Amino acid sequence: MKSFRKELVFNTKERVEFINITDQVEEALAESGIKEGLCLVNAMHITASVFINDHESGLWQDYRNWLEKLAPHAPVSQYLHNRTGEDNGDAHLKRQIMGREVVVAVTGGRLDFGPWEQIFYGEFDGRRPKRVLIKIIGE
Ligand code: ZN
Repeated sequence: MKSFRKELVFNTKERVEFINITDQVEEALAESGIKEGLCLVNAMHITASVFINDHESGLWQDYRNWLEKLAPHAPVSQYLHNRTGEDNGDAHLKRQIMGREVVVAVTGGRLDFGPWEQIFYGEFDGRRPKRVLIKIIGE
């Protein structure tokens, strides 16, 4: 069995941002040379997510609106977590909802997606370098 590991780094301009990382994951898969197996992609930080959904700008805004209703950033004093001196209590909750990782089957050297599936990095406390891990195992 082969194993391949790669890290991606994102440093978003905005506090909250969604980035389509499908091309970068496909590049990693090509580098790995693996044709049959599994590809794990996970955020390495507890205020960011990796998730799969549609590449559609209306949906991205819907996510932003929905997440902001569930866990508004302000006032930051509403979160007990922010008693630590941080201001990212909301980002931890947003990450929990949007998830830590995805696993995609690798078939014939390609990511074996369903219709419209794309991989996204969801940032909820950006403006600093943060990492995403890609781990691919198989033959
Ligand atoms: Zn925090």
